[in-house]
Amino acid sequence: MASEQKEYKVGEIAEKDGQYQCVVCGHVMDLKAGDIFVVCPVCKAGSEGGPKGPDEGVWVFIG
Ligand SMILES: [Zn+2]
Repeated sequence: MASEQKEYKVGEIAEKDGQYQCVVCGHVMDLKAGDIFVVCPVCKAGSEGGPKGPDEGVWVFIG
């Protein structure tokens, strides 16, 4: 089975506690279930004009 990582967009809600990594720059954030994903504070992924836009996945769960 091919590996598949769910990518979360800015404004989506974390489903579980853990570390989430920006797919663009690798920045890691600790989130709790129910937290809302934000624009990456390092590379601005998930923002208008960022390396990924607001409609693209930015964060992946890494554990
Ligand atoms: Zn980033």
